[in-house]
Amino acid sequence: SGSATAPFPFDNSYARLPANFYARVEPTPVAEPWLIKLNRPLGEELRLDVAAIERDGAAIFSGNTVPSGADPLAMAYAGHQFGTFVPQLGDGRAILLGEVIDRNGKRRDIQLKGSGQTPYSRRGDGRAALGPVLREYIISEAMHALGVPTTRALAATVTGQPVYREQILPGAVFTRVAASHIRVGTFQFFAARGDMDSVKALADYVIDRHYPELKADENPYLGLLKAVSARQAALIARWLDVGFIHGVMNTDNMTISGETIDFGPCAFMDAYDPKKVFSSIDQFGRYAYANQPAIGQWNLARLAETLVTLFDPTADVAVNLANDVLGEYGTIFQNHWLDGMRRKIGLTTAEDGDLELVQALLALMHRGGADFTLTFRRLASSAEDAGADVELAKLFQAPEALAPWLADWRRRLERESRQPAERAATMRGVNPAFIPRNHRVEQAIEAAIEEADFSLFEALVDVTSKPYEDQPGHAAYAEPPQPDEEVLQTFC
Ligand code: AMP
Ligand code: MG
Ligand code: MG
Repeated sequence: SGSATAPFPFDNSYARLPANFYARVEPTPVAEPWLIKLNRPLGEELRLDVAAIERDGAAIFSGNTVPSGADPLAMAYAGHQFGTFVPQLGDGRAILLGEVIDRNGKRRDIQLKGSGQTPYSRRGDGRAALGPVLREYIISEAMHALGVPTTRALAATVTGQPVYREQILPGAVFTRVAASHIRVGTFQFFAARGDMDSVKALADYVIDRHYPELKADENPYLGLLKAVSARQAALIARWLDVGFIHGVMNTDNMTISGETIDFGPCAFMDAYDPKKVFSSIDQFGRYAYANQPAIGQWNLARLAETLVTLFDPTADVAVNLANDVLGEYGTIFQNHWLDGMRRKIGLTTAEDGDLELVQALLALMHRGGADFTLTFRRLASSAEDAGADVELAKLFQAPEALAPWLADWRRRLERESRQPAERAATMRGVNPAFIPRNHRVEQAIEAAIEEADFSLFEALVDVTSKPYEDQPGHAAYAEPPQPDEEVLQTFC
């Protein structure tokens, strides 16, 4: 404080890239903006002048006032949507204000979503409805609190203007923070045009920004594919750990940084079902829970196609190098996933047979309709007190079916030296008590839309910001939905 820096200390590197990477465009002002929420701790992490920004929050985060130093632009990208290539998508309703360097020295994008039309809007209105804005706020912040790499929520505003969907809905603008908004689809945009100079310029930019260690690599572009694959393998394993279903894993919704992005019809599952799909637009289950790792690999193959000519001057050598990386992805994913599952059931060592032990539990959960989150949370209690088995088994339709598995699990735990209390505490640190359950998200959205009541939204954001802590005052938030509360479908 006391310095003369602007409220946003912008340094906009993407705007310095060639003009074909984006379209310069200003947000479209709205009628009557009102600030729903500003994420102050994140603002401080970004080294923003939070007090100044909060005073003008409604105007800034609705797009009515463009802060000084911003260089607003819409990014160009393409993408495979449900397997079909669309050569031009781009930010149709999002505008990158600029970048700041955060307290950790990391460059972060600040982007408005729902701030009006851009040259990439096609038939869209450039706007966002209040429901999806609140959903993205709640779920992205919950993912962060769970320890999953993700874009963040800096602010949400209502616009005072309606948006026209199947119904007339209140309009809103979401302010997103990301390590960057570069996607697999950004590479595809240039590759589809045969513009390899731009692919290379983008790859160099990405290496500089996200993977600087690759500058010393003998084959930096192959190194880039490897590094992105490794981050995506780790990310998708984390999604599976917490029961998260992204819902729209199109290549334009997969980041190069390894952060989760684009929280549309995403959801956490309640009862475990590997085929679970919530999205109303995912008719064939392409993006079902257990399909996510394979789709990750499919998307990485699309990234590989854009880069492959940079791997080696001889085509078949280049293709073999790419295929090796894509093949390794499966192993890297599987190792992350099994490590994660070992941690979830309280193991610190690795033995043959652990995979089968985990699979046996998942099969029982599936057959028994057991709640994914609560099963692992209650398993932590069983790790220190077999008396807790009763509460755990109640999650299963046939409680007695769990007993043989528990016996196998305890025999396996006996081969580790940790004390039960320590094991239980560690398990509670990886198995959340609180996730943003769908029915809670929907209740929060409904109260906001119907009554302009944001208290449920605030409460849900608050509870899910401490997912691994028992919060006895909020025990109801840990509960699965009653049958009449269950959310069957989510919408973009
Ligand atoms: P998404 O399904 O959110 O990943 O978006 C896919 C594409 O549609 C992106 O190019 C978006 O910018 C664009 N898009 C989605 N909604 C709108 C809208 N209301 N107005 C303009 N473009 C949109
Ligand atoms: Mg998208
Ligand atoms: Mg979206």
